[in-house]
Amino acid sequence: MKNKIKDINDLLIKKYGIPPRSKIPPKPVDLLIATILSQNTNDKNSYKAFTNLKNNYADWESVSKLSTEQLEKEIRVAGLNKQKSKSIKKLLTTLKEEKGEITLDYLEEMKDQEVITELTKFKGIGIKTASCVLLFSMRRNICPVDTHVHRTLNRIGVVNTSTPDKTFKLLNNYLPDKIAHSIHTNLIKLGREICKPTNPKCSICPLLKICKFKSKNFEANRNYKKNNFLLLDSI
Ligand code: SF4
Repeated sequence: MKNKIKDINDLLIKKYGIPPRSKIPPKPVDLLIATILSQNTNDKNSYKAFTNLKNNYADWESVSKLSTEQLEKEIRVAGLNKQKSKSIKKLLTTLKEEKGEITLDYLEEMKDQEVITELTKFKGIGIKTASCVLLFSMRRNICPVDTHVHRTLNRIGVVNTSTPDKTFKLLNNYLPDKIAHSIHTNLIKLGREICKPTNPKCSICPLLKICKFKSKNFEANRNYKKNNFLLLDSI
């Protein structure tokens, strides 16, 4: 399995290159807020909402003191603003109450599994979001599994799992060193552009030769829109 994962990573790098990373890793709290904003919208709109908060307020402490209406207004562009403003307020106030300040810098001392256990104690934070903190903020070799990573790995035949969290466990048990960021980012690109949920564009797929998907599709239009903007490497 380790070799197959490595082959996939190599083929994706041939197609897409090594994905660039943010020069300065985002703070874990920034990353969690950006992730809440990104639910059910595209990366560009969540980025706009995130920069509204970062540019208009001195720190997360100030954001935590906003009225619900003010916060909803600031993040409206990301959609679901009532629900998201509640989640953001809850996260910030819980951190303040439990840790005395709005920071997650103490995670740095913890092992990967401990970080996941700690973060998933917060309401609304699941394994995917916790693993994004590990990869993007803490630069650990952990590959988060979202819907694209889950779908593509199942189609290719690396795993045969029913949920992203099961795929996460299996994938990360066998993940070769130092490839988490490239395989995560490039599988998302593949899933958005080529291996789409319906009508995958198998005829132009860089993984065609190794993919075990039984219902490959060779009828789809070969054109696709490039999608290079990734929120968590841009904040
Ligand atoms: S060959 Fe088709 S099903 Fe397999 S990974 Fe590529 S696009 Fe997806």
